[in-house]
Amino acid sequence: MPKLHEDTAKVRCPYCRERVELFVDPDTSGAFVEDCAVCCRPWAVHVSVDEDGQRSIEIAPAQ
Ligand SMILES: [Zn+2]
Repeated sequence: MPKLHEDTAKVRCPYCRERVELFVDPDTSGAFVEDCAVCCRPWAVHVSVDEDGQRSIEIAPAQ
């Protein structure tokens, strides 16, 4: 899964397969829903933090 560098991550939309740069607030972790900037369909985004403080992001269809 992509690592977060600073506050953005390049993710691939599960619907339209476009690579989209997703902004994630530094204080955000856990799950939230974000609409794809290209096709506007909803992603279920999950931000996890490992023991080193490195954040990783997962994207799945929200439906
Ligand atoms: Zn999309």
